[in-house]
Amino acid sequence: MNKTQILIVEDEGIVAKDLQAMLRRLGYHVPATVGTGELAIQTALQNQPDLILMDIQLRGSMDGIQASAAITSRQDVPILYLTANSDEATLQRAKATGPFGFLVKPFEERAIQAGIEMALYKHQTDKRIREREQWLSTTLTSIADAVITTDPEGRITFLNTAAEKLSGWAQGEALRRPYADVFNILDELTRTVPPDRVANALREGTIASFSNHTLLVCRDRSEVHIEHSVAPIRQGLQGDIGGCVIVFSDVTDRKQLEEQLRQVQKLDAIGKLAGGIAHDFNNAITAIIGYAEMILLRVTDADPLFGDAKQIVRAAEHSARLTHQLLAFSRKQVLQPRSLDLDHELQHVDGMVRRLIGASINLSMDAAPGLWPTLADAGQIHQVVLNLAINARDAMPDGGDLKIALSNTTVTAAEALRIPDGRPGEFVLLTVTDTGTGMSREVAKRIFEPFFTTKEAGKGTGLGLATCHGIIRQTAGLIAVASEPGVGTTFSIYLPKAEASEKATVHAFKDNEMPRGTETILLVEDEEILRELGVQVLESLGYRVIPAEDGKAATDYLGEHSRDCIDLVVTDLVMPRVNGRELIAWISANVGEMRVLFMSGYTDDEIIRCAVRGAEVEYLQKPFTPIALARKIREVLDRASTVQTAAA
Ligand code: ADP
Ligand code: MG
Repeated sequence: MNKTQILIVEDEGIVAKDLQAMLRRLGYHVPATVGTGELAIQTALQNQPDLILMDIQLRGSMDGIQASAAITSRQDVPILYLTANSDEATLQRAKATGPFGFLVKPFEERAIQAGIEMALYKHQTDKRIREREQWLSTTLTSIADAVITTDPEGRITFLNTAAEKLSGWAQGEALRRPYADVFNILDELTRTVPPDRVANALREGTIASFSNHTLLVCRDRSEVHIEHSVAPIRQGLQGDIGGCVIVFSDVTDRKQLEEQLRQVQKLDAIGKLAGGIAHDFNNAITAIIGYAEMILLRVTDADPLFGDAKQIVRAAEHSARLTHQLLAFSRKQVLQPRSLDLDHELQHVDGMVRRLIGASINLSMDAAPGLWPTLADAGQIHQVVLNLAINARDAMPDGGDLKIALSNTTVTAAEALRIPDGRPGEFVLLTVTDTGTGMSREVAKRIFEPFFTTKEAGKGTGLGLATCHGIIRQTAGLIAVASEPGVGTTFSIYLPKAEASEKATVHAFKDNEMPRGTETILLVEDEEILRELGVQVLESLGYRVIPAEDGKAATDYLGEHSRDCIDLVVTDLVMPRVNGRELIAWISANVGEMRVLFMSGYTDDEIIRCAVRGAEVEYLQKPFTPIALARKIREVLDRASTVQTAAA
């Protein structure tokens, strides 16, 4: 083991010599003995001794106390003072330099040894405590949780960086204040001050933690959702309560996630419900519209029946729009995204928008040149624009300006952060701006919730924006709102840029034209009323129709007859026994390629949705009119190539 190095600072030669000899006998090493303060400072720096014995009275310009102060300001070394009979004032001065003890002359070997060993030990312990404190304070400052400690009276003794940041109080201002000044909390639900857990901890030593429903009121009066725990600080052998520690953290993000999850679950539940209803509902509406249209075809407009049948069609179409809306915002609708020119689509709805908003609102529509094509379902985009226009109208009861604009935009990573669920990329941006009432931040937060409305009963359904949201999200687009009360509102819709403009279907039908044909159609539909309607409509157009009540009946028929006799299979998707998808799989395995047209209003089957979306499978959305059916069938039959069966 290395010997302990002790520097002697003593100006009386004999005393110094004695001391040196004594220390050597005791097993210490004395690297040097010096006689002035200046030399002591210099030698201490050079030799880095483990301990210094320092005479208080030194000759020269500097005494031992001054020399010690200079040394300890530069290095961490314990100093023992050597003194004969010093006056009280000198002793006080010496004490202020934090010495490790005093050795009184004349020296006794045992006393010297004890003094030195005590000083060395105390120095070691001090060092360890200092390191411990450093470790603790680094830990406390660097952890993400906020920490406040108090004394037994509940006055603040410490605030870590996270606590300063969260509460808005600097440690300097907070110290010695009652903890409740800084840790000012409210019950989130009742908005009252909750029971005082800190007092409990201080009085009874109870530990408590709370993960929910607490708001921290910050220094600037803003409020933050927190979770927190409170525990007593025990001290001494008896474990007396010497204070309390409060640990808390910001749980706003988690709260938001929980809220979002609740929203998703709510949407999902409504979606399931809507989907369940929509299947039957769409069949019924298709039949109602179909039969009413058939009446219209047979009577002239002079006939009183004509007007009645027209009303039936109108009412049924209204119901159809409702199911569409329900399905759209629950994202259960089968979309048919095509490469669209949005400018063209806007022109399409221009007349409708003008009629809806009335004369007191100025409408401007503006499309930047060179607009990218976008991938979306045209009918859905119409719905979005109409919904936003109606809302804008409602927000401008005394008139105003409505601006609908289109432009190309590249969303950067930084911008994406400002758009809900945003992501960078190239988009066509559709903005709808009004100069209406605007909305408060609380309202803006909730507008996409289904059934959220601020309108009086009968005026609003609260489904408009939920629908828009559903459509945009299902189209892989983004929607954002900016609004200022009294100034107006802008909705921004980002629709993904499509790669290259696909060739649009070039089938121009004249108004009310029902194209005819002579081909043979296998019509697979389990709903009897629809099957009969289909047969009636298609036969009236000249087709030969073979009805089948479900997929099983269809495969039976195809199994018995040559495939050549069928030109087209028109099939429902959701059917008992063999459903539409299974039917297609069976056809591609047993018959080969055939033209197929799906009809459905709703499907929860992701596989079918993908199949319909991905491949060139033809699809007709229910409810549909006889005209739509006739046209779609003609389109499919006239297409040059055989349609790939996608489910295979
Ligand atoms: P509804 O129109 O049936 O109330 P929406 O989902 O379309 O349902 O809209 C929800 C709510 O959002 C409205 O009740 C209204 O408070 C608010 N809102 C929507 N658009 C605007 C707008 N352009 N200006 C002001 N508030 C709006
Ligand atoms: Mg609305």
